[in-house]
Amino acid sequence: MARIYNFSAGPAMLPEEVLKEAAEEMLDYRGCGMSVMEMSHRSKVYQQIIDEAEADLRKLVGIPDNYRVLFLQGGATLQFGMIPMNLMTVNKKADYIHSGVWTKKAMQDAKFFGQVNVAGSSEDVQFRRVPDVKSLKLDPEADYVYMCDNNTIYGTKFKEYPDTGKVPLICDMSSCFLSEPIDVKKFGMIYAGAQKNVGPAGVTIIIISDDLVERSKDLPLPVYLRYAPHVENGSMYNTPPTYGIYICGKVFKWLLATGGLEKRKELNEAKAKILYDYLDSSSFYRPSVEKDSRSLMNVTFRTPSDELDAAFLEGAKKYKFTNLKGHRSTGGLRASIYNAMPIEGVKALVKYMKEFEDEHK
Ligand SMILES: *Cc1c(COP(=O)(O)O)cnc(C)c1O
Repeated sequence: MARIYNFSAGPAMLPEEVLKEAAEEMLDYRGCGMSVMEMSHRSKVYQQIIDEAEADLRKLVGIPDNYRVLFLQGGATLQFGMIPMNLMTVNKKADYIHSGVWTKKAMQDAKFFGQVNVAGSSEDVQFRRVPDVKSLKLDPEADYVYMCDNNTIYGTKFKEYPDTGKVPLICDMSSCFLSEPIDVKKFGMIYAGAQKNVGPAGVTIIIISDDLVERSKDLPLPVYLRYAPHVENGSMYNTPPTYGIYICGKVFKWLLATGGLEKRKELNEAKAKILYDYLDSSSFYRPSVEKDSRSLMNVTFRTPSDELDAAFLEGAKKYKFTNLKGHRSTGGLRASIYNAMPIEGVKALVKYMKEFEDEHK
């Protein structure tokens, strides 16, 4: 068996322990004589899997009792629409903090349902940093404030959250969820597509306060598009993404067993530091984003030219490093080093970067 270092932004690496356990249980889940994939979601065995996943997530994050947890489908992208549909329903306006492609897409969908105010933006610097949360133009009458915490494409991350007063803060945490502790009560809703840092594609995790669920109760919307029916049915209004939830559950257990989110943050900081320290010391590579906005999950950089970027990717093949190419909208290079990327992978990458620098500078 030859596992390689996969620096993909998502779907991304999963912990080897989790994959091994899932492989062992593949044909016969704990004496059931079938795979979790083949199981009715209404069975007792499956109910236990989803209940345990939720309980472990609650324990891991410290989710207060007045918040619901949902495991839905449709990716983070469906939430771009569901959020305004369900929640931009009081004064029909919301504040958006614009930090790149993902917030642009969220705003495009929100415009169908009400007035979108851009409360802050870093478009003027091509999203090389996140907008300053202290100088936002927030409307106290807004139905919510929307932000994207870690901007996967650029490699930026907020270091603090805005004070939105009584207005609920909604946060897309798709690419940093469970990379560090989360103070849930600061938010009205947090959501994340699983395929970046938590599990396989096909599951979206939502943590939403009871009062926001209440807003969605009697809206004239198709049932799947309202939060309330999903809450009332424990994410089982219809068939949930059963296998994906099972894998996410295993990742929650792995995180709990390896020291929880405080420890995870330490590990992620140590990994990112190796890369950023090297980038800062090198006169060959250039980090793509401003220092105080750097992401611990997606590290973006460039060599002196597009040609050398391409040569870098070609040379990475001999070490079997994959998916180091930057997003198609930004170019350059990107190493995504989520929870499951071992520190050895980061060290091996830096070793190759030095070798490439010596060869080409
Ligand atoms: C990947 C990503 C999305 C889109 O996720 P899908 O699951 O493909 O819909 C949205 N927001 C962020 C921050 C992402 O990283």
